Amino acid sequence: MAASTTETSVSCPKCGAARPAEIAQIAPRPPCPECGAQGIAITMGVATEVNVAMKLRAAIRPGDQSRGWERRWADINTELQRLLAPRTVTLSGDAVLANRRELLSFYVHAYHLKDALKEEAGTAGIGEAEVEAAIGADPDLALLVDLANLDKHLKLRRPPRSGDVPRIGEVQGSQAGSGEGGWRLEQVIEHRRQNLDGLTVARNAVSAWHRLLTKWGLLPAPQTLAAASDVAPRRESSRSAKRQRAQGSA
Ligand SMILES: [Zn+2]
Repeated sequence: MAASTTETSVSCPKCGAARPAEIAQIAPRPPCPECGAQGIAITMGVATEVNVAMKLRAAIRPGDQSRGWERRWADINTELQRLLAPRTVTLSGDAVLANRRELLSFYVHAYHLKDALKEEAGTAGIGEAEVEAAIGADPDLALLVDLANLDKHLKLRRPPRSGDVPRIGEVQGSQAGSGEGGWRLEQVIEHRRQNLDGLTVARNAVSAWHRLLTKWGLLPAPQTLAAASDVAPRRESSRSAKRQRAQGSA
């Protein structure tokens, strides 16, 4: 259960060749002897996930104070931008796990917007049941609910809202170039026999909340142009997920 970080492996993201662990600390980094690529990827075994989730549970409690939905919404957006930015700390197994904890705790924070909305349902002019129904009807938010509950309780106590129990799969930190640039977290979320990108899941959830808050009149309606580009958000996001994966392994 309490797996440690010893399952870290360092490899070439281009050809998959194993690289020595020390190479992550060397800058400029020597290229891959097999294919010449300079990037590296640090992959963590999935056996660490229980440990991660338990640490997360302790870490998120203080954030559960009663706060208005607008404050939470602003925090969620700030947190998302930070998650999407390239990591600048040295790429290491511990750094990858720390970043994963941030992502998993983001799911919980993003999910808890729901509680703030329900609490303020009266003044916000929307009913509690309406909030729940809207979440259940939106695939991105339904997945968010399942991921958040998975992290809080280690397993789902009720049938998954998204129709399938998601699984927090393999995680790696991937860095292109010789070590001077930032790196990116690649967290696999297994869901409905698909491997989703964890950061894309986070971004899609925020987009879904944005659509709902706009629909309920809590956020100003988007301009005509923005509304037009909002028509097919899911397809858009799956394309960008593929693009990100391709970049991450370049
Ligand atoms: Zn290589």
